[in-house]
Amino acid sequence: MRDSFLSFSPPAVTEAEIEAVVATLRSGWITTGPTTRRFEEEFAEYVGAPAALACNSWTAAAHAGLHAMGIGPGDEVIVPTLTFAATANIVEHVGARPVFVDVDDDTLNMSIDSVERAMTAQTRAIIPVHYAGHPVELDALEELAERRNVHILEDAAHAVAARFRGRLIGSGPSAAAFSFYATKNLTTGEGGMLVGEPDLLDRARRYSLHGMSRDAWSRYDKGGSWSYEVMEPGFKFNMSDIQAAMGRVQLERLAQLQVRREEIVALYDAGLAAIPGLRLPETRPHVSSANHLYVVRVQRTVFGMSRSQFIDELAKRNVGSSVHFVPVHRHPYYRDKYSLSPARFPVAEAAFEEIVSLPLSPAFADSDVQDVIDAIHDVAESTIR
Ligand SMILES: *Cc1c(COP(=O)(O)O)cnc(C)c1O
Repeated sequence: MRDSFLSFSPPAVTEAEIEAVVATLRSGWITTGPTTRRFEEEFAEYVGAPAALACNSWTAAAHAGLHAMGIGPGDEVIVPTLTFAATANIVEHVGARPVFVDVDDDTLNMSIDSVERAMTAQTRAIIPVHYAGHPVELDALEELAERRNVHILEDAAHAVAARFRGRLIGSGPSAAAFSFYATKNLTTGEGGMLVGEPDLLDRARRYSLHGMSRDAWSRYDKGGSWSYEVMEPGFKFNMSDIQAAMGRVQLERLAQLQVRREEIVALYDAGLAAIPGLRLPETRPHVSSANHLYVVRVQRTVFGMSRSQFIDELAKRNVGSSVHFVPVHRHPYYRDKYSLSPARFPVAEAAFEEIVSLPLSPAFADSDVQDVIDAIHDVAESTIR
């Protein structure tokens, strides 16, 4: 057994990120400025998007995106229930109504059929989540959105570097929001990025900085002007150059970080293949997952214990894990406000009883991954009486 606790998702930070942050601190410009602009340009170029807006979280970036789409009171926005609460919270933030749909049993992504069934005359947008980094069926979703004239705002929090039929998530035609939270594939500690059409991004940019007609960089830079106008009561969503400095280094390292994730996933796939009652993640030939999470399903009756017991047993063996996610329809705010019954989400309900996210980080050595595999075999054997 491991003698130290393996945490679920430690960040992969090197001296290069540390030096970039220190250089920014020494530069005399620490809020949104030249480094953030460069990060936006480099990120847009990397994913193949026409424009990008750096924010201080996914939540901020996606909120600004929904606002820029003109979505507000009286509108409905379709979201999967198996996601982080932020996906639904932003819909509440703009005063619209989140409409929750069930997921597919294989990928745990939003089911396109249930999206179509949930559409009404009030539906203005769909927020697909690329769960665990596995892209949703974008062809079918985009066809549906176009036919019904609704927006798509992709929740790409898990999906930087993921591909659907060869195209990178974020390369359009929809807007997409990425998260750079500490556990995500590319991290700035806290941060997010909205990508999409330049007009949409211009509106989101203004909303992301007090509703002001120009930002600090264009006011205080040489040749800038002190004057500005407030066009609407915006928020304070901007990313700082300190975060962007880290992000630029992480973006440069992303390909290498993704290779390491793939290696770890291959070790899990091989090492866990033969365990009865342990269902491994779905792979599909036409998509390439970002491998953000490695979610296994503990099938209670076959495996011999519940998901929660499994997590406790792993912890006893010094292996951390997590659950993604408590379905949003179970949270008291949403359950009570919209009278949501679990019976409406049978697939997410069943999955929620089984899902466990195993430790996954490019910072792991092969021996860390082997420790997890050994711990799981040990747990599985302990259930055989
Ligand atoms: C992490 C996450 C978010 C929120 O990202 P923040 O940057 O923390 O705001 C949203 N959606 C999903 C699916 C996430 O995993």
